Amino acid sequence: MTGAIVLGRDLTGDQVLVVDAVVVGTGAGGSIALRELARAGLDVVALEEGPYLTPRDFNQREDEMIPRLFQDAGGRATEDLGIRVLQGRGVGGSTIHNTNLCKRTPDAILELWARKYGVAGASAADLQAAFETIERDLSVSEIPAALRNANNDVLRAGCEALGWRGAQLHHNRNGCQQSGFCELGCAYDAKQNALKVVLPQALEAGARVYADVEAVRIVHDGARVVGVHAVARDADGGPRGAVNVWAKVVVLAASAVGSAALARRSGLPDPNQQLGRGLRMHPGAAVAGRFDRDIRGWRGIPQSFECTEHLSHEEGSDERVWIVPAFAHPVGSAATLPGFGAAHMAAMRAYPRLAVMTAVVHDETRGEVDVDGEGNPIVRYVMSERDRGQLAKGLVACARLLLAAGALEVTIPAIPRVRVTRASELDGLDTSALRPHSVPLTAVHPMGTLRMGEDPKISVVRSTGEHHQLRGLFVADGSLFPTSIGVPPQISIYAFAQHLAPHIIERAR
Ligand SMILES: Cc1cc2nc3c(=O)[nH]c(=O)nc-3n(C[C@H](O)[C@H](O)[C@H](O)COP(=O)(O)OP(=O)(O)OC[C@H]3O[C@@H](n4cnc5c(N)ncnc54)[C@H](O)[C@@H]3O)c2cc1C
Ligand code: SF4
Repeated sequence: MTGAIVLGRDLTGDQVLVVDAVVVGTGAGGSIALRELARAGLDVVALEEGPYLTPRDFNQREDEMIPRLFQDAGGRATEDLGIRVLQGRGVGGSTIHNTNLCKRTPDAILELWARKYGVAGASAADLQAAFETIERDLSVSEIPAALRNANNDVLRAGCEALGWRGAQLHHNRNGCQQSGFCELGCAYDAKQNALKVVLPQALEAGARVYADVEAVRIVHDGARVVGVHAVARDADGGPRGAVNVWAKVVVLAASAVGSAALARRSGLPDPNQQLGRGLRMHPGAAVAGRFDRDIRGWRGIPQSFECTEHLSHEEGSDERVWIVPAFAHPVGSAATLPGFGAAHMAAMRAYPRLAVMTAVVHDETRGEVDVDGEGNPIVRYVMSERDRGQLAKGLVACARLLLAAGALEVTIPAIPRVRVTRASELDGLDTSALRPHSVPLTAVHPMGTLRMGEDPKISVVRSTGEHHQLRGLFVADGSLFPTSIGVPPQISIYAFAQHLAPHIIERAR
């Protein structure tokens, strides 16, 4: 049997589907759940609220691609507007525009989950097979040093000069043309992601994907799931018709924001008030260094080197910052660089000579996903003082790295702006203003809103991924993680979906 991609915008009239299982979302977690269910011979469909786009659509223009590829047209933010939250929307989810970094869940994190959060059967040894499958399927490899662009080389040079821990990263690309447009989707089809690799395998095994179809409510009777009510939408977002899917199994894979929002608006049983709580996001902010030579950071693979000098995965550590290069496209840079008028123009004139690093916090803050009166997600996240301290430490560390690599001047875009030309100026710097609402913060890794574990008092789903109270409802995305993981999450999400798939299949049979 060969499956198909059905476009909601082409559907006429209401639809009723009766299947074994329905997956909501087609990103890292959803694509794997869909593939494994289909490969097990089950009748399975995925509902994806976003459009079906292919490399021909990825035209490398910020103004067109950001609204098409990102949730809320790129405008999603925390409720207090302190942190911009970037997430994908479309067939392939956030794997379409992500920067392809691949790291396994650290052992220390898996041990913490077993010890403190009651997660069973998810040790490094238990997950080994799933990680191997995913890394093979997505062609994960170390990024060759020859493909390290000048921006990343600044980070390497800074680490070397300071004697700080740094390393080349791994990725899932094949045939990369080093265009530098990863965050707008790859026009060269070099990304080995859900869209290119996993979903075609799912279709080949007979799965169907409904694009432009938003899951509105999980249907249940309080003890087990029955299906999903969804709505097909036109290209302009207007409703086109209902899509009602009846199934024994529903898999939530709409991301840590989307899955939690859907769960909340569906009135799932939540006796211990755990639903949507525990949100972590890896918030981060950028620091720019001006050099006397061209860096042209927009060219080439955006991120290929990391600094882990200030990153520990031990619980309660005071070293929780991951540093990577983060060069923005021109519009993004213009929006972030401080200043107005002539001062801003001068800053943009220096754009080719800028190197930019980002400090990403392996966060402890527990945020929440709620819904407003119309069912839209509200992302509530107020950074704790400890995490704020980590952010400040990370921004200062970025400044030191840039200066050590030869930057003439370094700017931390805060209010008031911090501008230094010598490392000694960073000693004893007052960092109290380095906080949300002063520093532009972005988070691209939401996690933890439907946490796994054996204790229903502190989790939403079991270690098998199945809801504690609702038989047949599974979670297979970043919502599962009991804490922040302190590394880019896609490989962990793909691998957890792979690891949990046998439980989902068993229930759907
Ligand atoms: C700019 C950027 C760069 C990143 N770089 C990296 C990186 O280099 N390495 C890494 O490991 N991670 C990276 N990430 C994060 C990574 O891509 C995500 O963590 C991962 O894809 C999340 O997987 P998921 O399955 O939880 O959700 P997603 O991949 O986000 O998929 C969720 C899907 O569900 C759909 N959906 C939501 N609600 C509904 C609904 N009600 N009905 C139907 N469909 C719905 C969404 O449209 C979306 O397509 C990056 C993210 C961003 C934004
Ligand atoms: S840098 Fe490589 S993977 Fe990224 S968009 Fe360009 S060709 Fe694609």
